[in-house]
Amino acid sequence: MIEVESLDELRRSLAGFVLTPADAEYDVARRCFNALVDRRPAAIARCAGAADVATAFDFARSHRLEIAVRGGGHNPAGHCIVDGGLVLDLTRLRAVEVDGEARIARAGGGSTWLDFDPATQAHGLVTPGGVVGSTGVCGLTLGGGIGHLTAQLGLTCDNLVGAELVTPDGRVVHASEDENAELLWGLRGAGGNFGVATRLDFRLHPLERVVGGALAYSGTGVRDALRRFRDVAAGSPRDLSLQASLSVDESLEPALVVLPCYTGADADPEVLRALRSAPGLVDDGVGAHTFLEQQRVVDSAYGENRHYWKGHFARALPDELIDELLARVVVLGRPPGGILIESLHGAPKEVDPSFGVAGFRDAAFNISAQAVWLDPGLDEQHIGWARETAAAVEPWSLGGGYVNYMQADEPIERVRAAFGADAFDRLQALKRRYDPDNVLRRNQNIPPR
Ligand SMILES: Cc1cc2nc3c(=O)[nH]c(=O)nc-3n(C[C@H](O)[C@H](O)[C@H](O)COP(=O)(O)OP(=O)(O)OC[C@H]3O[C@@H](n4cnc5c(N)ncnc54)[C@H](O)[C@@H]3O)c2cc1C
Repeated sequence: MIEVESLDELRRSLAGFVLTPADAEYDVARRCFNALVDRRPAAIARCAGAADVATAFDFARSHRLEIAVRGGGHNPAGHCIVDGGLVLDLTRLRAVEVDGEARIARAGGGSTWLDFDPATQAHGLVTPGGVVGSTGVCGLTLGGGIGHLTAQLGLTCDNLVGAELVTPDGRVVHASEDENAELLWGLRGAGGNFGVATRLDFRLHPLERVVGGALAYSGTGVRDALRRFRDVAAGSPRDLSLQASLSVDESLEPALVVLPCYTGADADPEVLRALRSAPGLVDDGVGAHTFLEQQRVVDSAYGENRHYWKGHFARALPDELIDELLARVVVLGRPPGGILIESLHGAPKEVDPSFGVAGFRDAAFNISAQAVWLDPGLDEQHIGWARETAAAVEPWSLGGGYVNYMQADEPIERVRAAFGADAFDRLQALKRRYDPDNVLRRNQNIPPR
């Protein structure tokens, strides 16, 4: 319990403000995306800049408070909130500055894709981000970043060119190719471990219009449609990103939604025809539209549903695995959970693996069981389903999993495997340099060596 006088002192020393259980806004501010996580921090420091972050670190140290860092609040593990501790809340740092000529965007530590995309699109430019607008730019980037432009432009972290970080000892550190390059390497995939990013800088690319949207399939055609999805992705079209979501419809039979995003010159893309003519197609919502419209194709309610996600990077999606996924998706016998399949063909494979630590470039697909439910009485059942579904995918796994989707109960071996043993050693050395006391441990943690 922190004394009222101490909290007043924190209030006076921040340019931002402090929320405590006595404040009306506290209950909204402590909510994270995953309703399974219901924690009550001692205080939430809404930081207004790097100096506030350093002050909050100092306050937490002198009052022995555990720290959580909140960007967009989307991490399914709920790492952004801590019981009895101090939340470094970055939601006031949402500015995105764009230098259209240099093709660089500078994004505040708490910005979301809803802030980022309109700012860059005003210059006809993009960086490949996440598919749900309210997700944090920094949180997503620091864990890798897969979305509608992955095949064309790589992972989000492949486009990260610079950072301003506040380390737990209060230092402001910059990272770029010319300054602390090893830190920049670590931020490209294992990022929340080394400091609080008050700003990340991204390379931008010209793009305003795409052919995209959603293709929905149901009935007996779902199996064939999923095979076609796999075959189109295996052709590695550089101008087409692809994701698929397998779930059940009202009759509790498998249903499939494929999300293509094509950026080539063809108005009626040849590469999409196999998908648009597959049996079982019940809704063709694909057409030409702006990139901002594409970024609105997927949405997800914040803080309402309970979530438990578990998955693997798969080296392939053979027929046998497709059959396994179709069998698993009906086991629960109720919507709205499902299995997300993100293709990793194209640009991520062309990036030199030494560029950043994101370690899943060899994977063909990221396959994630995503249990989603409302009733706390069903926790065990849904969590069990996600774990068993992920276990069914494991024989095809490359090892490790996507840190951005991991729950808090993943063992350190899974986090190590996500990067590989050598890279994990290197990350542990970086951690010792920037956060030797492991102050930033509410994340997919890399303990200091
Ligand atoms: C609905 C939904 C859609 C998603 N879509 C995608 C997607 O399309 N592609 C994809 O790759 N991932 C996606 N994700 C996963 C998402 O990228 C990760 O969960 C990510 O951690 C969310 O970041 P956040 O800032 O929103 O979350 P938060 O919960 O606020 O932060 C998570 C953690 O990230 C770190 N962090 C956040 N900001 C900073 C910062 N400024 N400095 C230092 N550390 C920071 C901290 O460790 C923090 O605890 C999605 C998640 C959800 C729930």
